[in-house]
Amino acid sequence: MNYRHAYHAGNFADVFKHALLARILVHLTAKDTPFRYMDTHAGVGLYDLDREESRKTNEAELGLRKFLASPRTPALEELFKPYLDVLKAFNALEGKHYPGSPMLASHLLRRTDRLSLAELHPDDARMMQRRFSNDRRATTGAMDGWAAMKAWLPPAERRGVILVDPPFEEPNELDRMVDALAEGHRKWATGMIVLWYPVKAHRDADLFAANIQALGIPKTLRLEMLVDAGGDPRKLNGSGLIVVNPPWKLKKDAELMLPYLANTLSSGSHTAWSAQWLVGEKPDGKADVTTDEDDYSF
Ligand code: SAM
Repeated sequence: MNYRHAYHAGNFADVFKHALLARILVHLTAKDTPFRYMDTHAGVGLYDLDREESRKTNEAELGLRKFLASPRTPALEELFKPYLDVLKAFNALEGKHYPGSPMLASHLLRRTDRLSLAELHPDDARMMQRRFSNDRRATTGAMDGWAAMKAWLPPAERRGVILVDPPFEEPNELDRMVDALAEGHRKWATGMIVLWYPVKAHRDADLFAANIQALGIPKTLRLEMLVDAGGDPRKLNGSGLIVVNPPWKLKKDAELMLPYLANTLSSGSHTAWSAQWLVGEKPDGKADVTTDEDDYSF
């Protein structure tokens, strides 16, 4: 295991993922019934951007700091508010710290909601477990996230979200995500399943999306943002989220947030984003209720 998220915390992909995750969690808190948040690849929870790992790559410069420095309309400010509130709570507005997905969730969840967190790297798991040791809502494990997903689903709460955010060190991890989604949805059809994926070579991302689409799971949304034209397929040129059973407002939220994020975080003149139903409400996709533009917007 070579991947350490400390080298990448606060990069453009984190801003994309966490701003959308914050919207998902806010929509979930609109109902009183408690829900469960699960994070199969949790990382350490909070990153110090002054540390050597972060300074070495400077990725937060092109993500978090660009985002913080860029003006927003009142409508956008409202959509990013939950994410910005968490950044504020961790003094991240000066760009010194960055809260990862489990911290973001713990901040947005209520007293009655619960968190389940898994992290395999022994040092990162120890750190994550220490950070959440006083949070009575949280159950943490130094364990394999794929095994955790099998063990956690379905949660007692029935409502909730599971984030699957692996490091993509293994060549078959995209295929593994497809299998994990199929099994996860079989066990927890009412749950929200969120998969983060990298966009390096566009055709790999498209093949992944086609494989997800072939599962035919109703209400499967693909959100994607490119910050680079993709000339070098070894680079991270963009990132995406697959969201099964998204909150009904999420696509509309994303249609406002993604053009802004793509413009703000782009490394050059090329920006692109998309918010597209891979499968609509009925498995054949024909009953898709959305009439919006589904293709990439440039
Ligand atoms: N979800 C985190 C966030 O948004 O703040 C970032 C997660 S990072 C992309 C991926 C994490 O997965 C790393 O911390 C890595 O150590 C961990 N990891 C790698 N293989 C794993 C496995 N099989 N099970 C659980 N965690 C794993």
